[in-house]
Amino acid sequence: MATATERVPGAPERLLGEEVLRVRGLVKRFGSTQAIRGVDLEVRSGEVVVLLGPSGCGKSTLLRCIAGLEAPDQGTVTIGGLDVAELTPRELPLLRRRIGFVFQGSHLVRRLTARQNVALGLVAGGTPRDEALAQADGALEQVGMAWAAERLPDQLSGGERQRVAIARALVNDPLLMLWDEPTASLDPVVAHEILQLMEQVVAQTERAMLMVTHQVGFARKVAHRLVFMDGGRVVEAGPPEEVLAHPTSPVARRYQALLGA
Ligand code: ADP
Repeated sequence: MATATERVPGAPERLLGEEVLRVRGLVKRFGSTQAIRGVDLEVRSGEVVVLLGPSGCGKSTLLRCIAGLEAPDQGTVTIGGLDVAELTPRELPLLRRRIGFVFQGSHLVRRLTARQNVALGLVAGGTPRDEALAQADGALEQVGMAWAAERLPDQLSGGERQRVAIARALVNDPLLMLWDEPTASLDPVVAHEILQLMEQVVAQTERAMLMVTHQVGFARKVAHRLVFMDGGRVVEAGPPEEVLAHPTSPVARRYQALLGA
């Protein structure tokens, strides 16, 4: 696919590249609950797509299906041109390593230092230990946490742990980054600092980014595209300036009202 520069008012100008993620007809049930009812979605390299919608509308489940943490009941997830369902058990972990997942909580290993936590995925992927630790130091530096390399997670605050989790996602040089409400469990001041860090990561990257956040002001600022979900479906999508100026779905209207737009 040809690359093109696309200007989004309010969002940094960037070069959008090839399609990294393609989701088609995704359906996921939990017993009698239909969490996802047929979702199509694409994200290109350099593109920031933010998923918005009420609690329980399926955003986390969608991210988890994309990351291969849940198996969809129907539909396909293609990452970097590879159909995830067709990968062999040996290939799947290789692809997973190219996906950086930042969760609501930091999910760090408590008995490992910040540095070891960040290096863990690299070592598991076969990178020699010293090289992995050196790369981990670089990633910690990037998120302002070089000073905490030898600290255990319990010796860090919630916001600091989340910074380490972001370093852990970045260190693998992911094709695709998935962010699932990374500021949800933080107090407003720390949440603001993490949003600033996320903005910095987004501005420096050529990666494809898919984020779930309720921080609509942040979403408007950084996203190329907002995707509104309701009841397991995509109900509206488009550039922030367009969809927030002229929302057509009740969900998008609610977010518009939140902004006082
Ligand atoms: P959101 O991230 O938008 O808040 P979720 O994806 O977490 O929504 O949830 C979508 C729906 O699927 C909800 O009804 C939720 O209760 C249900 N659900 C999510 N995960 C599970 C699970 N592991 N088992 C049963 N139901 C689940």
